Amino acid sequence: MSDFARRLVRWQARAGRKDLPWQGTRDPYAIWVAEIMLQQTQVGTVIPYYQRFMQRFPDVARLAAAAPDDVMRLWSGLGYYSRARNLQLAARAIVARHGGRFPRALAEIERLPGIGRSTAAAIASFAFGARAAILDGNVKRVLARHFLVEGFPGEPAVERKLWSLAESLVPARGVEAYIQGLMDLGATRCTAQRPACGRCPVRATCGAHAANRVSELPAPRPRKRVPARSTVMLVLRHGADVLLEKRPVTGVWGGLWSLPEIALAADAVKDGRADVQCAIVQRFGVQVRRVEPLAAMRHAFTHFTLDIRPVLADVAAVDRRAGERGAVWLPLAEASGAALPAPVKRLLLRLAASTGGDQPSLLEEAVQDL
Ligand code: SF4
Repeated sequence: MSDFARRLVRWQARAGRKDLPWQGTRDPYAIWVAEIMLQQTQVGTVIPYYQRFMQRFPDVARLAAAAPDDVMRLWSGLGYYSRARNLQLAARAIVARHGGRFPRALAEIERLPGIGRSTAAAIASFAFGARAAILDGNVKRVLARHFLVEGFPGEPAVERKLWSLAESLVPARGVEAYIQGLMDLGATRCTAQRPACGRCPVRATCGAHAANRVSELPAPRPRKRVPARSTVMLVLRHGADVLLEKRPVTGVWGGLWSLPEIALAADAVKDGRADVQCAIVQRFGVQVRRVEPLAAMRHAFTHFTLDIRPVLADVAAVDRRAGERGAVWLPLAEASGAALPAPVKRLLLRLAASTGGDQPSLLEEAVQDL
């Protein structure tokens, strides 16, 4: 037996939980119901639900034969209702496939609806003394800290490592006490917040405690890289007016007024003003007098960030067909008060302020590298 397992087993005998309603039984049904209820719910909440459930459905046969509404009624308030649905589906599968006797083989238990690898192992070891490893969220945390397992436990490679570690630690004898000890440790000492290392039975061998890294482990879920998109946004200015376009109802900023955009590489704004000019002429049929890049902006959406390269273009004459395209020429002050996306509004307000003379000119700002 590993030193880790020995310490846990001794501690469980001395200080672990022993009087929970689902302890002290070898009935796989009773253990199974408790394990499922405990999956996303605290022990204190589970106890009264468990007692009511076991009174009403004391065995597989009675649960299998129950009206689904009755099962849901007894689960009501416990949350994660798919657990109750799967519980009854599994009870019916046990009746149909195993003649109403709870299967002993780990593989058969794992085949039942709603029972994963770790839950199957807990049932098999508590009910039948099988030598099987468990690895629920609490155990992952304990192992990651004690054995300094780096990386987010939800990553397949990290999870594989944790499973093989968990399997290597299961003792040849006294599996139930070891597994109960592991569960108790995760629930009462090595908790996610404020772990009680001072009262932990494996503190002397704990890597995270020795390295002062308890708060760092296990590593949190990595933040997803948010993709970046870019757009060239045009402030087409004719005298005091700027052109606004109505955006399509669906998609980003659906139905809002905004500045027109053109499909050009971001570099074109910086280096190829001729490209921008050509694109404006092509798309709007207006003569362009002057093109000037404005300070770049970044806007964060939930699923991506938008890098905006604004370009101010003074045009000689307005496009008479503008209104037909869901576009409108408006005085700058009026346009900046319209229902615009936040970065567009900010851009127009800054432009209005700069042309009003009370702010440094936007045209003097260099284009920032995003
Ligand atoms: S010493 Fe602290 S971090 Fe290490 S296993 Fe015990 S409670 Fe967890």
